[in-house]
Amino acid sequence: MSNVVFLDLGAAYRELHKEIDEAVARVLSSGWYIGGEEVSNFESAFANYVGVNRSVGVANGLDALILSLKALGVGPGDEVIVPSNTYIATWLAVTEVGATVVPVEPDLDSFNISPLAVEDAITSRTRAIIVVHLYGRSAQINSINDIAKRNDLRVIEDAAQCHGAEHEGQRIGGHSDIVAWSFYPGKNLGALGDGGAITTNNRELAEKITVLRNYGSDKKYTNLVRGMNSRLDPIQAAILNVKLKYLTEWNLRRAKIAATYSAEITHPSIKTPSMGPDVHAWHLYVVRSHRRDDLLAHLQDKSIECLIHYPIPPHMQRAYRDHGFNEGQFPVSEILHREVLSLPIGPHLSEADVERVVTAVNDFDD
Ligand SMILES: *Cc1c(COP(=O)(O)O)cnc(C)c1O
Repeated sequence: MSNVVFLDLGAAYRELHKEIDEAVARVLSSGWYIGGEEVSNFESAFANYVGVNRSVGVANGLDALILSLKALGVGPGDEVIVPSNTYIATWLAVTEVGATVVPVEPDLDSFNISPLAVEDAITSRTRAIIVVHLYGRSAQINSINDIAKRNDLRVIEDAAQCHGAEHEGQRIGGHSDIVAWSFYPGKNLGALGDGGAITTNNRELAEKITVLRNYGSDKKYTNLVRGMNSRLDPIQAAILNVKLKYLTEWNLRRAKIAATYSAEITHPSIKTPSMGPDVHAWHLYVVRSHRRDDLLAHLQDKSIECLIHYPIPPHMQRAYRDHGFNEGQFPVSEILHREVLSLPIGPHLSEADVERVVTAVNDFDD
């Protein structure tokens, strides 16, 4: 039997290949390969899509987070609250600018950090909070922003997994000081290579990041600050401009698959994700099982490709060994890392494949 692939990026390209090929050819023949109109066109379109004043294209999602922290002046001596359960990029950005990560446990039900947990972690050295909308579900960002305001803290959203998601009727992208995006190919809005952006309603911060991403320069060979080279490639910008038009429709396809899984997966010991009241981007459809590894093997046996997001929590990574975190220190994250399994989901997963996944999951001999 053919494989059910986790995410078919080739199919995504094939659906749009005429428009994408034309966009790429246009950039190639323009003779203009850094910055320029293709980048600014995408920046305006993306700002418009999320409903903010400004979007600044950068090289990738990790840089979007690093540049956000730099623009807010976060550095050595500052504490930044981060989720204990996230992709490691969230943490890497904080330690890259020399600040200290203060991990906060997620809620088991939503996978996101809660306002109460954030409030408990604030100290006199806290400068900022990075909120991740994990797996495409928005966190309680308005409540967290209220807490931040009361405590004079800055908020950055790591929106790498939630293109098109909403919170309290507003698209993610403008709730906080700065929102950092990744356009890694596998994201809901993915380039055909690396890409990233920040969105904000704060013009001053947008200007700072525009300068920081380009050697700290506002005019060629004039350097105001010590910046980075982290620019969005115009070829990727042209591709993203094509794909942005399909994001809403493709997210609806994801939502339909998620609804089918949630309705039809009835296995008594497999927990499907809770939904919440907001529009979910369904970047990942994550179930939990006490026998996750057996479930994974069972699905592999049926040629169904599943992934674990993520197998090792950041605090147990070698990269953070010098921080002295212990096993058991973040028990909720550790439960998640033992129990979560991401089922195939994407705009090009066929109904037949969705049914194959449902049947295989329900057949798991637990
Ligand atoms: C993908 C991802 C990033 C990093 O994005 P890159 O573009 O790969 O650098 C950051 N945070 C989260 C939560 C992600 O999923």
